[in-house]
Amino acid sequence: MSASAVDIQEVTHRYGGHEALRSVTLDVPAGALYGLLGPNGSGKTTLFRILSTLMPPSEGNARVFGLNTTQRSEAVRNRLGVVFQDPALDEALTVRENLRFQASLYGLSGGDRRARIDELLARLDVTDRADDSVDELSGGLQRRVDLARGLLHRPDLLLLDEPTTGLDPGVRRAFWTAIDRLREAEGTTLLLATHLMDEAERCDRVGILSDGALVADGTPAALKAELGNQTLWVETDAPAALRDRIDAQFGVPTRTVGSTVQVAPSDPPAFLASLYEALGDHIRSATIRTPTLDDVFMVHADAAPDVEREQVLARSGDE
Ligand code: ADP
Ligand code: MG
Repeated sequence: MSASAVDIQEVTHRYGGHEALRSVTLDVPAGALYGLLGPNGSGKTTLFRILSTLMPPSEGNARVFGLNTTQRSEAVRNRLGVVFQDPALDEALTVRENLRFQASLYGLSGGDRRARIDELLARLDVTDRADDSVDELSGGLQRRVDLARGLLHRPDLLLLDEPTTGLDPGVRRAFWTAIDRLREAEGTTLLLATHLMDEAERCDRVGILSDGALVADGTPAALKAELGNQTLWVETDAPAALRDRIDAQFGVPTRTVGSTVQVAPSDPPAFLASLYEALGDHIRSATIRTPTLDDVFMVHADAAPDVEREQVLARSGDE
């Protein structure tokens, strides 16, 4: 049996002529908390639809615990749980009724069903609301019930699609406490789609999706280290001109991210002093800092080929 919980090989997906995923190859080791980071429209939900067997990819293969999502869809569904962006609860029913109904779909009944529901209600801290109807619960509690729903059949892999979007910070913390407890108790592998950097920081590994392409993949620490230990970020009105001048006068590597030029000299404070002396007129502001995941994200999102960007712009003009 494979040690990968998720193994995606060159998956491309098209909606009509629109390429939502472009040859994505990705491996999630069993037991990991893997974060798929990307802005709206980068293809996160599309990847989740493929993994959860809702649709086959246009090209390539996806496997969950070694099982092909197209050929072995039923076996795959038994191994995974999904919490999609929109809650999948019946608001007119109580929490317990929702869970009972879902448990029956998984073939749980009688004492087993009751025990599993009680266990999850306790773990997610919703026992005292079990007999309230779902529409009486706050958004945060509904998310936790939805999470319980996805966990009833003890999946080995849980897909979480932007689970904390729209929740306030206290509620998000409670949600993450529940996730930590779940990993500890059941060893569940988690694949999390998010556009929140602090959530990505919690992950063992992070993949960055940009316009349907996986542009970076690694531990948060390794991705940040790729940018250098300490880097200098210079805000300027003319990034291209500043880069040319830095190259000509100092010969150190630079990279443009929007209106910011990132420089990785060996001694950033000393370099900054020389830079101000030589090219101060071109500098709006400058910061020396340890790279954050935010920086990693900016650098990689910016690295998407120009051709693809033009296509994206053309598409959004059509809509
Ligand atoms: P994300 O979850 O990262 O926001 P999605 O996977 O939802 O991204 O969408 C990726 C791209 O595919 C977007 O450009 C989106 O507009 C498009 N898309 C998503 N679902 C459909 C669909 N059912 N039909 C056509 N285009 C879609
Ligand atoms: Mg989405």
